[in-house]
Amino acid sequence: MRQRDLDVQDVGQIAETGAVPAHRRIDEVTAAAHARALRHHEGAVADYIPILASADPEAFGVCVVDVDGGVHGIGDVGTRFSIQSISKAFVYALLCEALGHEEVLDVVGVNNTGLAFNSVVAIELNDGHPMNPMVNAGAIATTALLPGATAEDQWDAVLTGLSRFAGRALEVDDEVYRSEAATNHRNRAIAQLLESYGRIRVDPAEAVDVYTRQCALLVDARDLAVMGATLADGGVNPLTGERVVSAAVCRDTLAVLTASGLYERSGEWLFEIGLPGKSGVAGGLVTVAPGKVGIGTYAPRLDSAGNSVRGQIATAYLSRALGLNIFASDSHFPGGNLA
Ligand code: GLN
Repeated sequence: MRQRDLDVQDVGQIAETGAVPAHRRIDEVTAAAHARALRHHEGAVADYIPILASADPEAFGVCVVDVDGGVHGIGDVGTRFSIQSISKAFVYALLCEALGHEEVLDVVGVNNTGLAFNSVVAIELNDGHPMNPMVNAGAIATTALLPGATAEDQWDAVLTGLSRFAGRALEVDDEVYRSEAATNHRNRAIAQLLESYGRIRVDPAEAVDVYTRQCALLVDARDLAVMGATLADGGVNPLTGERVVSAAVCRDTLAVLTASGLYERSGEWLFEIGLPGKSGVAGGLVTVAPGKVGIGTYAPRLDSAGNSVRGQIATAYLSRALGLNIFASDSHFPGGNLA
């Protein structure tokens, strides 16, 4: 059901987000989460974008940034890697900010496809309507819809917007960009299919080019944690104090991440970790505990859906040990006896 069908347009949103854990506790738990996940060597480094195969499979960093601006990092938190699909979350937020809740819902949708991130079938099954901005079809449509008279203007909006989320000027890894641009036939096909259904109004090749550049932006685990903390903090970057997007846009973006941030494993992720998150094929993972913290991890070995194995293990530990799961509650009545 839509907002208008639910008849809630005039009902204000109350935020009930609980408390940020104490800084010392976050430091201890972050270290324990890193140690726990370090024991794991399962998964494989992505190689369908040729350059990604050269990543160090043992690299591993975990960083937690709280909404008070505390930075808690351990391991390879400064190692840079391409943001890849994690960019989808933040570009989606920028589009929501520019176009508004209803229009973005109409053009890109919010439902899980249940299919792989680069599925063409998902487009066909839905009459050419991209169903979700966290998989490639919806993400390319999202980028194509950004305001700007030219592809260069749209790229500018991506670069400036994502840099504000990170609180520093991000740069493209040219080697990653060229490696993907030379091999992304499938994404080009997806964009042409979207054009054939009238879903994108710009040159599909240019839309894919901007999308490919956004995926090649270099970040580290700390950047991801800051970007996540900005979504956790109602759209204000807790390190720079700058408002990047509105609180309503954060809420909408986190809802989409909750449903589909880990591709076709999103249900399992939610069941175990209970937080909105977004993964990328270079091994990054960002997780958001609304009103509390952003978590950024980097570990390039992936499960078969393309999600970082160590990242998921460390985040599961953090979620449990810091009490971040948004579905967890204790009884309001001590002992649980109402009588
Ligand atoms: N640039 C990659 C692609 O479009 C991003 C995919 C991902 O991180 N899952 O294929």
